Amino acid sequence: MGVPLLDLKAQYATLRNELNEALLRVAESQHFILGPEVEALEREVAEYSRCKHGIGVSSGTDAILVALMALGIGPGDEVITTPFTFFATGGCVSRVGAKPVFVDIEPQTFNIDPALIEAAITPRTKAIIPVHLYGQMADMDPIMDIAKRHHLAVIEDAAQAIGAEYKGKRAGEIGTVCCFSFFPSKNLGGFGDGGMVVTNDDALGAKLRLLRTHGMQPKYYYKQIGGNFRLDAIQAAVLRVKLKHLDAWSEARQRNAAWYRAHLPNTSIGLPVEAPDRRHIYNQFMIRIAQRDQVAAALKQAGIGHEIYYPVPLHLQECFADLGYKPGSMPVSESAALEVLALPIYPELTEAQLAEVATVLKSAVL
Ligand SMILES: *Cc1c(COP(=O)(O)O)cnc(C)c1O
Repeated sequence: MGVPLLDLKAQYATLRNELNEALLRVAESQHFILGPEVEALEREVAEYSRCKHGIGVSSGTDAILVALMALGIGPGDEVITTPFTFFATGGCVSRVGAKPVFVDIEPQTFNIDPALIEAAITPRTKAIIPVHLYGQMADMDPIMDIAKRHHLAVIEDAAQAIGAEYKGKRAGEIGTVCCFSFFPSKNLGGFGDGGMVVTNDDALGAKLRLLRTHGMQPKYYYKQIGGNFRLDAIQAAVLRVKLKHLDAWSEARQRNAAWYRAHLPNTSIGLPVEAPDRRHIYNQFMIRIAQRDQVAAALKQAGIGHEIYYPVPLHLQECFADLGYKPGSMPVSESAALEVLALPIYPELTEAQLAEVATVLKSAVL
């Protein structure tokens, strides 16, 4: 039969009427860029994330880029982040002319290890970007404590973690600024690219808004050099429909995770670890296995969707060779890259599908 890693058609089937109505509303309005739909989504996502300001942008990548720009980070500056993340986290640091400084991860959560951050700080360090990988927040208390003592900004990369919580606080509530992605495969995904930056800082919110539209204010007068980082109304209208269902979807993902936990052996398969005081929203359900590539091949053979997030940590990517890292520089990330495997976890999975994944997986690891 087979089970896909993600089935967006199954999600669309549950929301067809609401989504089609939203699309028609935009078609009738013929208002495509920013405007009332985007403003409404900005208010709704800001409120959901318990932040004062939401700035809709063109992608999660642009959210990180414009956040770095708004914080004035550029040539000569250093930004500390994890190498075990999607490319954009590090790529954006280089794109503003700053230097990414990688710090290894915790083996349990795959998130940046706060105990290693302080040793990486130099007089040029301007910010830390913790990534809430797979839908579980990084250990924010020690990160914020270090940031305060060294006067650093904290940019939460919550591209995989809208709705995740740490000690009762939402992704976005703790850092200086926080970035979401609405790429279609994320837990809150649009009908194309989209993203949002949220913050509780009024001055930063105003700056993000300015930079999103070329730094223009008033029309055709440019205060600063920004870019075209605008979100479009079709994405906003779709996302407003989906946002209402996000908590129910997160709960369904958690139920699926609990099902796997109850039905997979924790001996040969490393199940994801939920750190204390966290609401893991399972954007991905990542297992860890020694013979990963053989198991992935067996899943492929049986039509079970799976993915490796991520096979090569950023410090070993060709484009970052000039940073001077070598194999062995970040051992925890490097071993994770060899062993992690994502299983289907999307909310619409049936128990029969979960059982099929478990059966194939168990026969592949035993
Ligand atoms: C998806 C993702 C991004 C980038 O978001 P896009 O919307 O694809 O540009 C950034 N960081 C992380 C951790 C991501 O997973």
